[in-house]
Amino acid sequence: MDCLFCKIANKQISSNIVYEDSDVTAFTDVSPKAPVHILIIPKRHISTVLDLKDEDMELIGRLYIIAGKIARDRKIDQDGFRLVMNCNKNAGQSVFHIHLHMLGGRVMNWPPG
Ligand code: AMP
Repeated sequence: MDCLFCKIANKQISSNIVYEDSDVTAFTDVSPKAPVHILIIPKRHISTVLDLKDEDMELIGRLYIIAGKIARDRKIDQDGFRLVMNCNKNAGQSVFHIHLHMLGGRVMNWPPG
């Protein structure tokens, strides 16, 4: 399968990895939209949120737990940060391997554009 984020998870394409375990990789976004912009992905290919199955519940929960760990490491936990997962065209999903955007280091607007 020709998937950019599978290749990042497999290390076929280099990236700045900030966290990794057997199931999850987190790396800095190549085009950051905030001082801290990290993408947290499952290593296994899942195209969109719509492809999640009941058995993926623990995996998805782990993405959020890992986001919290990274936020504490980066010391943006107290000021706060935003977690976003885009799905399909209207949300602007451009890479079809699910990824949790973690944005921090500045004030975020609400509602998002
Ligand atoms: P989305 O638009 O929600 O699908 O987000 C895709 C994100 O992947 C964008 O923020 C891109 O900047 C980011 N991105 C694309 N290619 C790379 C790459 N090679 N390494 C790191 N981030 C990337």
